[in-house]
Order: sequence, then C-alpha cells, then structure tokens
Amino acid sequence: MQVLVVGAGVVGLAVARTAARAGHDVIVAEATGGIANGVSSRNSEVVHAGIYYPTDSLRARHCVRGRRLLYDFCTARGVAYNRCGKLIVATDQAELAKVETLLAQGLTNGVEGLDMIGGNAARALESELACIGALSSPESGIIDSHGYMLALWGELEDHAGSIAFETPVERLSYEAPRWRVQFGGRDAGRAEFDAVVNAAGLGAQALARTIDGYPAEKVPPLILAKGNYFAFAGRPVFSRLIYPTPVDGGLGVHVTLDLAGRMRFGPDVEWIEHESYTVDPRRADSFYQRIRSYWPGLPDGALVPDYCGIRPKLTGPGEKAADFMIAAEPAHGLPRLVNLFGIESPGLTSSLSLAEEVVGCLDI
Ligand SMILES: Cc1cc2nc3c(=O)[nH]c(=O)nc-3n(C[C@H](O)[C@H](O)[C@H](O)COP(=O)(O)OP(=O)(O)OC[C@H]3O[C@@H](n4cnc5c(N)ncnc54)[C@H](O)[C@@H]3O)c2cc1C
Repeated sequence: MQVLVVGAGVVGLAVARTAARAGHDVIVAEATGGIANGVSSRNSEVVHAGIYYPTDSLRARHCVRGRRLLYDFCTARGVAYNRCGKLIVATDQAELAKVETLLAQGLTNGVEGLDMIGGNAARALESELACIGALSSPESGIIDSHGYMLALWGELEDHAGSIAFETPVERLSYEAPRWRVQFGGRDAGRAEFDAVVNAAGLGAQALARTIDGYPAEKVPPLILAKGNYFAFAGRPVFSRLIYPTPVDGGLGVHVTLDLAGRMRFGPDVEWIEHESYTVDPRRADSFYQRIRSYWPGLPDGALVPDYCGIRPKLTGPGEKAADFMIAAEPAHGLPRLVNLFGIESPGLTSSLSLAEEVVGCLDI
C-alpha cells in the first residue's frame, strides 16, 4: 500500500518505519522544516517502566511492551540510553500507601524488578534523599530521544520511505478506493494514498476536522497541559530518577537526568488555553517547595527556568486521565485511516509498540 503518515514526531516516525519495514510504500508529511519539532523534543526523555497506568489500558500495554522494544532497538542501533533506575518516594504515611498502590498496579501491568524499600535503603542508594520508603524500578531509564528519532528516520529511508518537510496536510477525502490528500506549503498540491495515519500530535484534532465525512462527535476535545522544567545550576546529587507520588494531570515534579548526568526538575502541570512555550520564572517558588519535600538540601537560587512541553490531553483538571486513543475504521467508519489522539506520556516509551498496532490496523 501507499501509506501517508502525517507528522514527523516520535510516533509518526515509528509508525512510518514500521510500515516501511512491513513492505509498504511510505511518505511522511511534516508541516515544519525538520523532525521532532513538536511534543517529541519537549519531554523528559524518560523510558517509563509502565507502573502508573490502569490495568489493560493502552497506556499500560504499550508502555511495557514499548519499553522492551525500545531498549532492544537502542542496543541494536547504537542509540545511547541509560537504564539508570528510578525511585518513587514517599515522605509520609499517606504517600506510602499511594506508593504501595503503585507497586500493586505495576505488578499487575507486568513491570519487572519492582521492589519496596525502606527509607534507610533508599538513602543508601541516594544519600541526599529524605523519605520513609520508596518503590524501586530498575527498568526505568533515559534515552537520547533525538538519536532514537534519527535512527527511525534512517530505517525509514533504508526501506525506501521518505519525509516531505514544510508540507502541511490541509484536507483529506476518501474517494473509493483511495484517499485524496491536499497538501499546502513548499510543494502544495494533491496526491492519492491507500492509507493515512494521523500522528499530528497537538494538531491531530484540527487535522481530523478536515477529513470529509469524519463524524464530528468522534473528534475528542484537545486539552493543553503545559509542563515546565527548571534546570539545576550545580553539581548533580542524584544518579537515579527520583519521582514523588503522582499529582492531578502529571507524575509530579521529579528529578530527571540527561545522558551527561545533568539534573533538571519538572514537569509541573499548568492548564493552558493556547500553545505557549515560555517558562514563567515565578513558578520556581512552587518547585522549591515540592522538591524540598524529598530533597531538603536543595540550595536557594539553584533553579533556573529551562524549557517546557505541552501534553495533548483529552481530559481536564480533576477528570480521570484518558487513555491513548487509536481511532481506526471500527471507530469512525472510514477505511484505512487511523487517527491518534491524546498521545501524551508515555508516548515516547510506547512508540514502537503503538506503531505495531497502528500498522496492524491498516492491513484489515
Ligand atoms: C512535558 C512532557 C513530558 C513528557 N515526558 C515523557 C517521558 O519522559 N517519556 C515518555 O515516554 N513520554 C513523555 N512525554 C510524551 C511524549 O513526548 C509524547 O507522547 C510524544 O512525543 C508524542 O509524539 P507525537 O509524534 O505524537 O507528536 P509530536 O512530536 O508533536 O509530532 C507531531 C508532528 O505533527 C506535525 N503536524 C501537525 N499538524 C500537521 C499537519 N496538518 N500536517 C503535517 N504535519 C503536521 C507537527 O509539526 C509535529 O512535528 C512527555 C510529554 C510532555 C509534554
């Protein structure tokens, strides 16, 4: 089949690579001038183990399977990663109960190696930590996400696929047996494809609304939850990822590391109406407070505004977190069309597994 993938973020690239390896003729249309200019370059680069997500949800299944596939892919392709492990820490009895619930959920989800450890054992691993207990997750890690996306692009090209940059998709209509696609941008014009995958991230709902005959009630709301990061101006004190217990809309302001060992904190949750990528330095106040609950030694003046990313959520504040939405023909009635909505965290970790499911939907 001739397959069009819309969006060259991590999910679009993983889908395109998997479709090309399956023998399809694949083109990726990307609105901007490069890969990974959307959500995919504005995250924590954490390989999640798969602990938090409800039993049998797409997020649970694709995170656990995607993590295993991702480590194997990175090993085979020479993409840098560090399976550094993570501690989810409890600073009081109420949090300890939450962490124990997370352990049970993680075990149900099939996450390997999980273990509850006491405060002293946690401090033996990370001497600056203040906690009364922690869930240790040795499978969690960090990756060079840009290196990973470059490797996906490389495999796509090895299988004769390509990316058309500065080529926004403007309109789609199904005229049996093919999809007619209107492109704007550099090479504006029309083309026909057998199958289309909408992996447009924050643009997925807008694109779905341009599809002739697509049921309007099947386009879910897009709710934006910004996540701000602050860099740590000093020598790193942790060698593992350190997470508090989760909060409404996110996993809590945690310690993330990059592959050079630098430490940063975030992301928090800021519900916004319109896309904006500035980090308000005043948010540092709440960061100090939250981080000091598990790292009392955080010095004054050590946090520097860094970057932010926007989660493409399907539910808002106080609502139950939505699952990933993979809308294929049974969901909307149009053949060989898959819309991906709400691919927030753990979308990076899940990408290879999501790609398998999406390409499987096209073959029906
Ligand atoms: C703050 C934050 C932290 C996160 N941390 C983690 C983490 O640690 N681990 C993890 O596993 N996941 C994490 N995630 C989630 C992960 O980053 C996302 O799930 C993933 O990057 C989504 O990739 P995507 O390809 O769907 O979207 P994107 O990367 O946004 O790609 C979509 C692309 O589509 C293009 N596009 C849009 N409309 C059109 C159009 N009409 N025509 C052509 N192109 C179009 C855009 O330009 C963009 O390049 C985090 C997310 C956020 C926001």
